[in-house]
Amino acid sequence: LLLGSMAPPAMDWEEVSGYDENMNTIRTYQVCNVFESSQNNWIRTKFIRRRGAQRIHVQLKFSVRDCSSIPNVPGSCKETFNLFYYEAETDTATRTSPAWMENPWVKVDTIAADESFSQVDLGGRIMQINSEVRSFGPVSKSGFYLAFQDYGSCMSLIAVRVFYRKCPRVVMNGAVFSETLSGAESSSLVAARGVCVPNGEEVDVPIKLYCNGDGEWMVPIGRCMCKAGHEAAVNGTLCRACPSGSFKAAQGDNSCLPCPLNSRTSSEGATTCVCRPGFYRMDAEGPGTRCTTIPTAPQSVISIVNETSLRLEWSPPVDGGGREDVVYNLICKSCGSGRSGCTRCGDNVQFVPRQLGLTDSRVHISELLAHTQYTFEIQAVNGVSDQSPYSPHYTAVNITTNQAAPSAVSIIHQVSRTPTSITLSWSQPDQPNGVILDYELQYYEKNLAEWNSSVSRSQTNTALIRGLKPGTIYVFQVRARTVAGFGRFSGKMYFQTMTEVEYNSSLQDKLPLIVGSSASGLVFIIAITVIIIVCRRRSSERPESEYTDKLQHYTSGHTSPGMKIYIDPFTYEDPNEAVREFAKEIDISCVKIEQVIGAGEFGEVCSGNLRQPGKREILVALKTLKAGYTERQRRDFLSEASIMGQFDHPNIIHLEGVVTKSSPVMIITEFMENGSLDSFLRVSGRLYTTGGHAAGIAAGMKYLCEMNYVHRDLAARNILVNSNLVCKVSDFGLSRFLEDDTSDPTYTSALGGKIPIRWTAPEAIQYRKFTSSSDCWSYGIVMWEVMSYGERPYWDMSNQDVINAIEQDYRLPPPMDCPSALHQLMLDCWQKDRNNRPKFSQIVNTLDKMIRNPGTLKATTPLSSSVHLPLLDRSTPDFSSFTSVDEWLDAIKMGQYKENFANEGFSSFNTVSQMTADGVTLAGHQKKILNSIQAMRAQLNQITSVEVYGLCQTELTVEHCDKADMAQSELDL
Ligand code: AMP
Repeated sequence: LLLGSMAPPAMDWEEVSGYDENMNTIRTYQVCNVFESSQNNWIRTKFIRRRGAQRIHVQLKFSVRDCSSIPNVPGSCKETFNLFYYEAETDTATRTSPAWMENPWVKVDTIAADESFSQVDLGGRIMQINSEVRSFGPVSKSGFYLAFQDYGSCMSLIAVRVFYRKCPRVVMNGAVFSETLSGAESSSLVAARGVCVPNGEEVDVPIKLYCNGDGEWMVPIGRCMCKAGHEAAVNGTLCRACPSGSFKAAQGDNSCLPCPLNSRTSSEGATTCVCRPGFYRMDAEGPGTRCTTIPTAPQSVISIVNETSLRLEWSPPVDGGGREDVVYNLICKSCGSGRSGCTRCGDNVQFVPRQLGLTDSRVHISELLAHTQYTFEIQAVNGVSDQSPYSPHYTAVNITTNQAAPSAVSIIHQVSRTPTSITLSWSQPDQPNGVILDYELQYYEKNLAEWNSSVSRSQTNTALIRGLKPGTIYVFQVRARTVAGFGRFSGKMYFQTMTEVEYNSSLQDKLPLIVGSSASGLVFIIAITVIIIVCRRRSSERPESEYTDKLQHYTSGHTSPGMKIYIDPFTYEDPNEAVREFAKEIDISCVKIEQVIGAGEFGEVCSGNLRQPGKREILVALKTLKAGYTERQRRDFLSEASIMGQFDHPNIIHLEGVVTKSSPVMIITEFMENGSLDSFLRVSGRLYTTGGHAAGIAAGMKYLCEMNYVHRDLAARNILVNSNLVCKVSDFGLSRFLEDDTSDPTYTSALGGKIPIRWTAPEAIQYRKFTSSSDCWSYGIVMWEVMSYGERPYWDMSNQDVINAIEQDYRLPPPMDCPSALHQLMLDCWQKDRNNRPKFSQIVNTLDKMIRNPGTLKATTPLSSSVHLPLLDRSTPDFSSFTSVDEWLDAIKMGQYKENFANEGFSSFNTVSQMTADGVTLAGHQKKILNSIQAMRAQLNQITSVEVYGLCQTELTVEHCDKADMAQSELDL
């Protein structure tokens, strides 16, 4: 700003040309009235626009003459001057306004020279120039004027520079700060927010800088960093996208890195490099990790077979896929000789150290089946095998195991003992490795050396060892034999014979029970006689011992050697031992009871869920033992589990286990959705198949027969039906047959018990001869129940009439529409001589053939044929006793059809007897009604002759009977 532009009144100031220190010509304003007193000379600038500044800085260049250098100068000579300013919105100042005085003008400072020159500048002398800076603020109007007041000095004003301060636009710490003007005071700090450069991100706190009064940035807060996929460039002033082929995974100061091995980018600015096809990273591996692939197959497999075990060794794969974590899995498949192909091996095959995740390239495999072809696939896998869509590479080896002896028997149980004998049973070896020919039992007195041992052979898994010393401990070991030779001996087990004293007292214990349970001394004598007769007869048939009765199940002849057979839990001295052996204890926490579904003999039967560790949840039936039971009831209740637990067949109800360690005590079995067969037949009436279900029951019975188990209570009520309509034999409780308090089944059966008369073979009713052949009789009755849709066998005849009728060789007639072939099979089952009845295996075969040739099932007994009048025709209700058709329908439990009958005009017995099957929808109901009509016709026609199967006998008397199926029978000696 030049002085030349300063406005009047500058009458005492004059504009003069001179030189600066560099001898440049300059224009100055001078005043020098030192010889006159009371000077007050003002000079001001033109209007200066503020331009946003809050604080104004003024730099003055001037020179002042030293008063002492002026000769004769008065004392009023000054060496200073004053600086003022005046704010205005517009340029409105004149010569007189604002007035030339402090206030309205605002004084900034009195300014003194640092140096003064001592001579007046005349004739081009060089001046000494002072420079001073002053500032003022805050200013807020749109502009201002500056004024200089001289009050008696000799000075020249050379230059006035007016300026404000600002902090410039800057890029700092990754952010851009725009230009910011300094504050109103020299100490002010003006905060400025930074904006991150493109692709930069603030870290933690908002980024800030402060602009101070000198126009300098200071106190930086926060910072910005380049985001993932970008790196800082040009001294951090911008964030540049990673070039393709490189990546940056996260925000930060670090630079982009080249893609790791086997990975690539598809564009710039990548945050990760994706693996090339066929290469993978594990989930836990970051983007900086190289991509790897699955290993190649293991190589050079060596297999060494030793009987039923195998050692496999191999070399690592040529290429581990670029990884160090290669492990091996083994897949075992056993391959039958036929075309059936290979199947996965079962859980029993043992792998040492393990089957999956082997770190060493070798494994020992055992428990394979003898003489069997196996394929082992050795897979190489590593950390990325899971991600590959392809199965792991493997090398397969085919081996065939050798013949091997059976594995060791794991446990021997004592079944019973006397002073001179011990009866033992044991489980089959887990790995028979062939057909077991027999077992060898080795035993010796514990106190003697092992070389004294005796040897006994047994074709079954039981043995009776006789000729022992009373009260002596013996050591027993058993081993199985196959064509491959003997297996290893079991561990040594110790059993002790009874002492004579123990034996006598145990006999005495039994006698009062026998007497007490009988009504009179006569029965006692009879009982003793029975025992003697039984013993004599048995000993003549089979000369073993007095234990033959107890052990009839074990020793009866037709069991194939080595075959597993049923063990009666009551032959255990401690029946709890049998429960422990045959039934798995289930923790109550695995069981959830849902609802009551029935009433059992010992308590409620519920449905529920069973979830055992590692197994999926299944529906189960829970038979409970009601609270307040006696020890005997508990034992009898659990005996059913000990029996059921020995069976494993699709047509036998499957035992899941027992709960005995908490209350209530429970037996847990598979759940049979459709309940018992008899009610199922009656309610749904749709189980009519041409023998399919009868065949299922026969298959279950065949199995029981092979296990040497006699059911004794085979009846439709004891068959359960599941949701797939599979029939399974159930109800293995023995207790209902036991009448008295003795636990010895031999005596119990001799002294009588409850018998389901209608289902039981005559020899079993008469002299308790319960055998698989008596079960066969019952099976015939079950077939009849099935084919007649749950009709009661022998309808409402009394038990005694049934017994008499059977004795006189009457048999049940074919149910309506029953194929003749099936009825013939029933009749075969009802042969008087039990030896003539078919074996269950034959029944299964016969039914199987019928099912395969449905033609054989076409022929049925004609309904109207009077020649084939059913045997028990006379035992059907006497129709003359019904006054109306409705009454008759009620009596045969078909009341729901009353309306249909009335609507169709069947109002009298005469019209009804002409009726055909139309209008009765359910096949079962249809049959029931027609059966009854058939009987009605017979009565109406007054046919009295009967055709019998076997001998022709007198007519039966009819007697109505409400008695239960389980009638108490008397022993008929
Ligand atoms: P039980 O004591 O075996 O005669 O059983 C009494 C009743 O409970 C039977 O008649 C069936 O209705 C029912 N029940 C028994 N066991 C089962 C089962 N496993 N599944 C379904 N219901 C069963």
